[in-house]
Amino acid sequence: MNEANSFSLYYRDLTAIIYTMVYISRKEFFNAAHKLYNPNWTKEENEACFGPCANEYFHGHNFELTVTVAGVPNPQTGFVIDLKKLGELMKTRIVDKIDHKNLNMDVDFLKGKMTSCENLVREFWQILSSEIEQNSTGRLYKITLQETHKNYVEYFGELPPR
Ligand SMILES: [Zn+2]
Repeated sequence: MNEANSFSLYYRDLTAIIYTMVYISRKEFFNAAHKLYNPNWTKEENEACFGPCANEYFHGHNFELTVTVAGVPNPQTGFVIDLKKLGELMKTRIVDKIDHKNLNMDVDFLKGKMTSCENLVREFWQILSSEIEQNSTGRLYKITLQETHKNYVEYFGELPPR
């Protein structure tokens, strides 16, 4: 096969995959306290950078965690992933460990880390991605963490190596 043909075949297959892909999401909720504080900086430097988020005795949020899985539905079930199973994974692997906790002090997988939403979603990805792959026809596509009505972060995983 010449190069142009193999490219057009590749492009056709890729297009077919993209247009049959379904994105399915589950939301779970948790309440937690944290503070943003760099221990290598002075109190003044922390307050200048993080404002009220550096409050010495912490502050809390009602977080909303959304996990999105992308895949082609299983022809037998019509499911990309059983949402009950996805909810159970989110709850047992993440929410049960952080709900009503102090993220800076009580959570093993966050020890010594800045508890920003950016860092939280990256940790959640590490925890969930392989189990989602084992329990779905696709893979983990996106994690969204809503911290306030105004602020949320989205994470699509590491870029694959070139
Ligand atoms: Zn906060």
